[in-house]
Amino acid sequence: MVQVSLSSSDDVSLSPKLVTPAALGVVILLLINFFTKQTFNSNRTVVLSIAVALTLFAFSHFIPHLKFGKAHAFYLYSYHWILAGLLIFIVPVLSYYLYLWVMLICMAEFFYQAKGTIISGTALLATMLLGTLYQYNGITKDLLFKIIPEFSLILVVNLILTRLVFGNRQSRKVLSEKIVRAEYEHGRLLALINSMSDAVVAVNDEGKITTYNAAVLDLLDTNKTLSDTLIDDVLLLQDAKGESVLPFELAKNTKHIKKTSDYHIPLDRNDHVDLDINISRIGTSGLLAKQQGYIILLRDITKEKSLDEERDLFISEVSHELRTPITIAEGELSMAVMLAEKPETDAKAIKESVVRGHDQIVFLADMVNDLSALSRAQRDDIQIDVETFKIEDVMNEILTTYKPQAEKRGLWLKLEMAPTLPEIATSRLYFREILQNFVTNAIKYTDHGGVIIKCQAVDRDNVIIDVIDTGAGIAKTEQSKVYDKFWRSEDPYTRSTSGTGLGLFITAKLAHRIGGTLRLTSKLKEGSTFSLLLPVKAKRSKDKVNFVKSELALLLDKNDS
Ligand code: ADP
Repeated sequence: MVQVSLSSSDDVSLSPKLVTPAALGVVILLLINFFTKQTFNSNRTVVLSIAVALTLFAFSHFIPHLKFGKAHAFYLYSYHWILAGLLIFIVPVLSYYLYLWVMLICMAEFFYQAKGTIISGTALLATMLLGTLYQYNGITKDLLFKIIPEFSLILVVNLILTRLVFGNRQSRKVLSEKIVRAEYEHGRLLALINSMSDAVVAVNDEGKITTYNAAVLDLLDTNKTLSDTLIDDVLLLQDAKGESVLPFELAKNTKHIKKTSDYHIPLDRNDHVDLDINISRIGTSGLLAKQQGYIILLRDITKEKSLDEERDLFISEVSHELRTPITIAEGELSMAVMLAEKPETDAKAIKESVVRGHDQIVFLADMVNDLSALSRAQRDDIQIDVETFKIEDVMNEILTTYKPQAEKRGLWLKLEMAPTLPEIATSRLYFREILQNFVTNAIKYTDHGGVIIKCQAVDRDNVIIDVIDTGAGIAKTEQSKVYDKFWRSEDPYTRSTSGTGLGLFITAKLAHRIGGTLRLTSKLKEGSTFSLLLPVKAKRSKDKVNFVKSELALLLDKNDS
């Protein structure tokens, strides 16, 4: 069984408040006895010196760091020696002073259980024998008959007292088991708190940190020891207006539990860490009722907050982008109705209005398509379906689909394939969608010449597909913005075409999902080259069809050899 001593500096039952009056009581008793000439030793200097020394010793309990309880072993030995000295040399040995020893046995038992009782009891017997020897110049049978009952009586008194104060053996055993369990639970709790990714700080009722976990150090970006530091000195909070907020003030205003996301930790420049703060008040009942404090849980929600802000911004941008075509379509259709209601119907004007309204509806349909493609591309949790296919196959499909469109605009559309190209294992759907976006843009933003699609291998693991046009080109200053959402060039040629500004934004997302990289080289009025650099094997998921095939091939290979 694990031995648990009840030693604790916080224990109220053996605080200086109790030990000091007891020691002072002995001093008073000694002085009364001395002046009534009842002491064994009548030497004034010796008795007064002992009284002064004992007084100083009693008050030493109030010296910080020396308090009884923390240095209990030292005090326990000292009190035993002092009382033994008093009994042997100063006061009559077989007097009521002996009963002061009951206190010592009690203390010894309190700190060292049965071992303490035995040692203290033996010391008492030795003191009684030595005192008798010294004061009576020897031990007679009569004296022995006095010593033994007195000693036994002290032990009985002690037994009754300790049972009354500390409970019986059984309940003490239960208590020490409870302490072992509490210590185990405490250890488990500490381990749990330490393994939490959220920062946890416990502060006492003075606002000083008592416990904290590793995540706190991460959050506060420090490796200093935080125990006993004021929480207000290390957790510098600010509200939305940038005004300082004292965390301990927040805690003190908490009745039970407080949750808030209104505060942040300012970093240098305009950066900050947004926090989700959860404060719980802790209070204990019973003996330690005065102990109170707070548990503060801090979670870094900077990323979530910025995602929320981004989403809000996106919704407002989308609604803004949708408002214009809806207003135009609504206007054109109202105009058509108005024209139709006139007595002399102008069929041409009505048709023109309806066509313009229709164009806007088509634009809205494009926008909705793009938005749903975007939401698909942004759902990162969805596994991409990887297939192994020849680049040439997809390129030929694109060529067949878009050649008529290019020719209609008087442009040529050519495909140049390097002679030996590896098959690629990636999402065919995303691959096609990316190149389709490049090709449709190239046709859309080119008014003379044409478009070439060039496919070649970069090395064993990567291929590059360039879509080169001889069109409007993109100014150097604008090139970095082409993948931004809703961005369209200010160039008048672009503005004369219809578009949502979402195509390349989606393309970039899709490329990222299949591990591809996009590149752009462009010169205004000369043309642009949009390139997709792609790993031959997509890293993100397993090739459903060919995974089985290659595993089989590997197995067969092994069997052959
Ligand atoms: P959309 O074509 O619907 O406007 P995109 O995201 O596909 O949206 O393209 C964003 C912008 O990039 C276009 O509006 C255009 O200004 C510019 N752009 C894209 N591709 C080309 C290209 N091949 N040549 C010139 N400009 C281009």
